[in-house]
Amino acid sequence: MDIYGMNVFNDVVMKERLPKPIYKQLKKTIDEGLALDPSIADTVANAMKDWAIEKGATHFTHWFQPMTGVTAEKQEAFINPQDNGKALYEFSGKELIKGEPDASSFPSGGLPATFEARGYTAWDCTSPAFIRGYDGMTTLCIPTVFCSYTGEVLDKKTPLLKAMEAINKQALRVLKLFGNTTAARVISTIGPEQEYFLIDKDFYEKRIDLMLTGRTLFGAMPPKGQEMEDHYFGSIKERIGGFMNEFNTELWKLGISARTQHNEVAPAQYEIAPIFSTTNVGTDHNQLLMDTLKRVASRRDFACLLHEKPFAGVNGSGKHLNWSLATNDGQNLLEPGSTPHENAQFLTFLCAVIKAVDEYANLLRVSCANAGNDHRLGANEAPPAIISIFLGEQLADIFEQLANGGPKSSRQGGEMTIGVTTLPPFPKDATDRNRTSPFAFTGNKFEFRMVGSSFSISGPCIVLNTVVAEILSQMADRLEKATDFKKELQVMLKEIANNHKRIVFNGNNYSQDWVEEAAKRGLPNISSSVEAFPELISEAAEKVFAKHNIFNKTELHSRYEIFVEQYCKTINIEAMTMLNMANRQILPAAVKYSTELAGSISAVKSAVSSCDVSAQEKTLQELSKMMSSFKSGIKALEVHAGKANDIEDQYERSVYYHDYVVPAMQALRKDGDGMETIIDDLLWPLPTYAEMLFML
Ligand code: ADP
Ligand code: MG
Repeated sequence: MDIYGMNVFNDVVMKERLPKPIYKQLKKTIDEGLALDPSIADTVANAMKDWAIEKGATHFTHWFQPMTGVTAEKQEAFINPQDNGKALYEFSGKELIKGEPDASSFPSGGLPATFEARGYTAWDCTSPAFIRGYDGMTTLCIPTVFCSYTGEVLDKKTPLLKAMEAINKQALRVLKLFGNTTAARVISTIGPEQEYFLIDKDFYEKRIDLMLTGRTLFGAMPPKGQEMEDHYFGSIKERIGGFMNEFNTELWKLGISARTQHNEVAPAQYEIAPIFSTTNVGTDHNQLLMDTLKRVASRRDFACLLHEKPFAGVNGSGKHLNWSLATNDGQNLLEPGSTPHENAQFLTFLCAVIKAVDEYANLLRVSCANAGNDHRLGANEAPPAIISIFLGEQLADIFEQLANGGPKSSRQGGEMTIGVTTLPPFPKDATDRNRTSPFAFTGNKFEFRMVGSSFSISGPCIVLNTVVAEILSQMADRLEKATDFKKELQVMLKEIANNHKRIVFNGNNYSQDWVEEAAKRGLPNISSSVEAFPELISEAAEKVFAKHNIFNKTELHSRYEIFVEQYCKTINIEAMTMLNMANRQILPAAVKYSTELAGSISAVKSAVSSCDVSAQEKTLQELSKMMSSFKSGIKALEVHAGKANDIEDQYERSVYYHDYVVPAMQALRKDGDGMETIIDDLLWPLPTYAEMLFML
């Protein structure tokens, strides 16, 4: 507890170090989400600087989240040289509030033109400043938003803050109708569970695919994968325990509430979850968490893999995004209470989410689209690409009652008896869990399970907040006009239950039956990123984002451009890396082994002519066949990658990558992996799956 938050300029530090009136003003700014008054900025900056310097900081930076998906920083020293040849530490309010990094080298989707390079960063004071230090370099980091000279949004933070504002505004309208006069703000809360792999750094450095693309492009399945189900929740190995300990300590120092940790389903896969927080802080924290995972891993001679599918054949990694709405006075708006059927306010918010998810399923889907997540969504693994909602028995039953009029009862959980007399009976939940659902109600929050492990959660949060805000605004528009609120509410909820029950599904989302059933219900099944991307610039998307002031049309289109471009670049890098490995590592190993086999055949035969060399001969024949198929595969991939590069229109290019380059990569891999299973282990140039997944 001594170290918790020690590197954060948090409320306690502000109170301690700022003059009382200034502290009060800043606190009000933060609590109410107002703009910082420039007249207090100098004092705040000075206090921040003194605190940071006491902690060893020499530099400060505006820490922001450009469209790369990772964070960016340009560090500046506090020094100000004096006439006497010495220097003073200085940091002004101006420097705290605003920065001017060059914006030209960040993805902008054509916004702004590169010759108009100026960009601005501005402090988001609702997320506290913090200190990061490694190996003597210590820096004060100020969380900021990032926009262009002409005011267009260039980052993942600004629209997130806007989407939080939108849901605040609309949820407050609805709450007011229920007679709530005490809540001043409604905050969306998030708890992202982060999955990751850890492998020995030595193996990582021997694999250019892992280093350049984050995933293995070749690699035959080892004799053992995850089928024994012995890794999930298994006892944590000592080397991993040591890593987790150092990792948690680093997070706690940053005020990140790392709480849950366990082994995940795949060998070498783990999960960490913090306690939930407000959406922008939670997003900042998740970025810091991913960064810290990589750093601590490296320090301990591990490599941390955040890719959605580092290893074919075992589970990939996601980021379950737990989400709810809370009032500033501490009420969780998705808390059903013990008799949810009587809880009209809860049912209203529940219905808002259900309607939003049904109407904007495609937007939620595209918020989770990238090349890496294509290996999870719609492939043979969780969660599926079809969006449905799991409500659980109790709520599904109430939802059904809603559709038929007014709900009259809530199924109760009852008592659980285990049948062993020494164990006490305990209350059973009214609802079981469902691990296969992409969007599940889990007691007092929703869990959006499609998000990929490498993602900034900002995108999914922006979409979720915006679409729920939209439905809440429709509800408020209607209810504010009603002469009889209760009656109108009942009619409205009944309508929603009837119109949107198609999205509710409590069964097994992995089954083929569901795919067919979902098609009958008219639910979209978008199985790839290239199919998903255009959803971002659909008319519905343009309308809802513009209405709530999240993105204008230009900004939305620029984001679409960026995502499509990132997809193309990712596949291109993967293809080039694959060709490199195929030509320079795998084929040479195959040539060596075939030469060895040929040598053995003639050597053995010339030594004792009657010897049976059929084993060598058959292996050589088999290998030669694979080699020639492999060589054709190389050629095919080269041709397709070249063709893709020549396609002018970016979206068409992405479709070509998906339709031709990705399958060519799969075909090449198949032959490569086949050769791995017969080539002499001593000649194989790459660390194997067995080594990477099972050796610590
Ligand atoms: P599980 O893996 O069983 O789903 P975890 O404990 O790993 O559960 O993660 C659950 C996450 O949900 C945690 O980050 C938790 O803080 C978060 N959470 C709990 N309540 C809320 C809420 N009201 N809003 C958002 N997130 C929440
Ligand atoms: Mg979990």
